[in-house]
Amino acid sequence: MQLDDALADARAAYIRRNPASREQLQEAARFLPGGNTRSALYYEPFPLTIARGQGAWLWDVDGHRYTDFLAEFTCGIYGHSNPLIRAALVEALDNGINLSGHNRHEARLAELVAGRFSLERVRFTNSGTEANLMAIAAAKAFTGRGAVLAFTGGYHGGVLTFATGNSRVNVPHRFILSRYNDLAAAEDLMREHGHDVAAVLVEPMQGAGGCIPGDAPFLHGLRQLCTRHGALLVLDEVMTSRLAPGGAQSLLALAPDLTTLGKYIGGGMSFGAFGGRGDVMALFDPGRSGALPHAGTFNNNVMTMCAGIAGLERLYTPQAAVALNARGDALRGRLNVMCAEAGTALQFTGLGSLMNLHPVAGAVRRTEDLAAAPTAVRDLFFFHMIARGFYLARRGMLALSLPLEDTDIDRFANAFADFLSTYRPLLGAGDARA
Ligand code: PLP
Repeated sequence: MQLDDALADARAAYIRRNPASREQLQEAARFLPGGNTRSALYYEPFPLTIARGQGAWLWDVDGHRYTDFLAEFTCGIYGHSNPLIRAALVEALDNGINLSGHNRHEARLAELVAGRFSLERVRFTNSGTEANLMAIAAAKAFTGRGAVLAFTGGYHGGVLTFATGNSRVNVPHRFILSRYNDLAAAEDLMREHGHDVAAVLVEPMQGAGGCIPGDAPFLHGLRQLCTRHGALLVLDEVMTSRLAPGGAQSLLALAPDLTTLGKYIGGGMSFGAFGGRGDVMALFDPGRSGALPHAGTFNNNVMTMCAGIAGLERLYTPQAAVALNARGDALRGRLNVMCAEAGTALQFTGLGSLMNLHPVAGAVRRTEDLAAAPTAVRDLFFFHMIARGFYLARRGMLALSLPLEDTDIDRFANAFADFLSTYRPLLGAGDARA
C-alpha cells in the first residue's frame, strides 16, 4: 500500500465515523466563516466538534469518547471540571462576578504568580497574545527604541505569529527575524540593528512551532546580547511555564527582563500575564505621573483570579509540576525508543509534559529542519489515534494533564505501537536516536 492510499482510507473512515461533527460544521458555517472562530482548531476534512469533557475524557457530538492528550493546547492541565476549580468558580459566582473595582483575589494571584516565576511585579491580561503585546509595548517605552528581534517558527499569539516569517495579520511593529537556535545569526543581526532593538522575544521551547527546545547556549547567548545592546529579553513562557515549578527559565537558570504567561495559570479561564523587572513594570504604576496605561475590562475578572488561585495553591503545586513533567519525559523517551526500534524516520521532540511527533530523522533544532517532513505521515498518525479514542492536535502535538492515569499513558503507547506496526513500510527509514 502507498502512503497516499493509506491516508485516503483513514480519511474516508473518519468521515464515515463522524457525521454529526460534519453537520455541526455546516451549521456553524451559516454564521462563522468556514464554521470556525479559532484557526488552530480547523483541519480537513472537518474538525471534530466536542460536546463535553470530564476529568481526562472528552466526548464528541457523535458520541465517541476520547482520552484527552491535548488538554486545550496546554491550558487544560487540571482536566475537565476539576472539583476544586469548580468549587472556586461557584464560590466566586456566589459573591458576584462583575465587581467594578479592585478585588482581593487579584493581589493573591499576583503573589502566587510572582513567587512562582520570580517576577518583581506582574500585571494580568486576558490572553497570552495580549501579554506579549503589552511586554513589547513596555520594552519600547522603557528603551525608547522601535524594533523587536523574534525568531522564525515562533508563535507569540494570533497577531504575533512567525511560522514562516512575518504574517499579514501581525501587529505592525518593526520585526527583525532570526533563526531559532542560531546564536551567530542573532549576533550578526544585533550588531547591525541592536541600537534600535527594544526587545528580543523568544520562547524557551518553540511550542506551536513543534515543541522544539531552545539550546541553553542559544538562550543564554541571547541574554548576553540583550545586556550588551541595551535591549530587554522577553521570555515567552505562555506554553512553557508548566515545565518546572519556576517555568522553563528555572530549568535553564535564565534571567529574562520580562516574562509572559498564559494558559493554565487562570485555572482554565481566559488568562495572560506579563511581569518581571520592577523598574520596567513601574511604567504601569498609575500613581506615577506619565504612567503607561494598561486597560482591560476582564484583567482582574474574579472567575479567572479565583480559579487561578485554586489551581496554583492546591493542584499544580511545585511537586505536581515535577511529577507531571517526569511522566512526560518518560513517555517521550518510550515513544522515541519505539520509533527507533521500528527503524522509522519518526521522532517526538519536546520537554517534560509537552511533545510533538515529527516524521523526520536527525536533529530538529528549528522549524526549517521540518521542511521535508511528509505531512501525510502526521495526518495518518492523527487519524489512527483519533480512531482509537485518543484526542490530540492535528499537527501531532500532545500535552499531558493531571488527571491522566498511568493506564491511559500505557494505552496511548500501545496504540502508537499499533500505528508503527500497521504502517511501518510507509513511514520512512531511520533511527531517531542517531
Ligand atoms: N505565546 C505562546 C508561546 C503560545 O503558545 C500562545 C498560545 O498558544 C500564545 C503566546 C498566545 O496565547 P493566547 O492564545 O492565550 O493568546
